Amino acid sequence: MSEVKSAARYRPETRLVHSGTLRSQFGETSEALFLTQGFVYDSAEQCEARFKGEDPGYLYSRFSNPTVGMFERRMIELEGAEAARATATGMAAVTTAVLAPLKAGDHVVAAKALFGSCRYVVEDLLPRYGISSTLVDGLDLDQWKKAMRPNTKSCFLESPTNPTLDVLDISAIAEITHKGGARLIVDNVFATPIWQSPLSLGADVVVYSATKHIDGQGRCLGGVILSSEAFIAEHIHNFMRQTGPSMSPFNAWVLLKGLETLGVRVRAQTETAGKLADVLAKHPKISRLIYPGRADHPQAAVVKKQMGAGSTLIGFEVKGGKAGAFRCLNALKLSRISNNLGDAKSLVTHPATTTHQRLTPEARAELGISEGFIRYSAGLEHVDDLIDDFAQALDKV
Ligand SMILES: *Cc1c(COP(=O)(O)O)cnc(C)c1O
Repeated sequence: MSEVKSAARYRPETRLVHSGTLRSQFGETSEALFLTQGFVYDSAEQCEARFKGEDPGYLYSRFSNPTVGMFERRMIELEGAEAARATATGMAAVTTAVLAPLKAGDHVVAAKALFGSCRYVVEDLLPRYGISSTLVDGLDLDQWKKAMRPNTKSCFLESPTNPTLDVLDISAIAEITHKGGARLIVDNVFATPIWQSPLSLGADVVVYSATKHIDGQGRCLGGVILSSEAFIAEHIHNFMRQTGPSMSPFNAWVLLKGLETLGVRVRAQTETAGKLADVLAKHPKISRLIYPGRADHPQAAVVKKQMGAGSTLIGFEVKGGKAGAFRCLNALKLSRISNNLGDAKSLVTHPATTTHQRLTPEARAELGISEGFIRYSAGLEHVDDLIDDFAQALDKV
């Protein structure tokens, strides 16, 4: 094995292709897939030294694996983090990052507009273990300030939010969090590492569902936690090693190849989403449209401050409530009905009956998720085909 390749001095596009490459003695061009559970040792002495941490090799793929290590290193250099751990799914990353550093008696503050399962972890799971939580309107900085308590250890948010694409002021919330002696964890899935770097905005921990744009081709699940050496060593390393929510080497290999094209895909999908948003915003059958790249986005100033560009996602409300939304979804031929996002194929979701059906109608209304609301995730199709497809589908509403 040659040295792990660092490309940290290069621009992000170059890091996506080169960071972390670990070439074997065969000199392969593409990253090797080390589909192995364990490792063998030259001697009992070497094995002993490995277990003591005195010999820097691999032990067992629940703790570390060369292919998983390449994925982690590429994410570290892309994100500008010090350390990372890859997980089996995005939810494994969120649950580990939120739960592992806490104990009974601690308190968490989170924005209430969260991916459904993230909200379950904060609202339902943590309290069962004696960790209390307060949900706030993430856009209201006063609510964050008022929610902080002496035992608040973590604050958690997503931005842009799912599915209404509100953009939360990460640096302002980081300041409130740090004043209260807590750490800020940001789920950066909707922004992607291409358009937003939470660590540079003051966040302490970033989590991703790699299932989304990082794979980007609908193949496998994965997640990653990025932070300082100290946070990973103190809170994440041993928790993952002992409880085992680790990423499979096969998935790490797929996701490494996904990273190579992440920049190209996200740029193309963002351009498509921007053009489609401008067309849909003028459509008579659409009563409300939210796109972070448009001047009429409610937090356009925050978008400008913290994001490199809009988003690959659009939120919009079709007239006629649930019936109107369903008619539109059923009539679309190219954009397929799914609960996923970030795929090469355009996907549409009806949050009220899928990702957010667990919430009460009041909780949904509070988040702006009406019965006619649709979330669109831009794929890599030609934008004019997508525009034509939406035009014929909206005719049926
Ligand atoms: C999908 C998603 C998750 C969960 O990721 P999985 O890989 O499906 O477990 C968490 N947060 C956000 C914002 C997501 O979109």
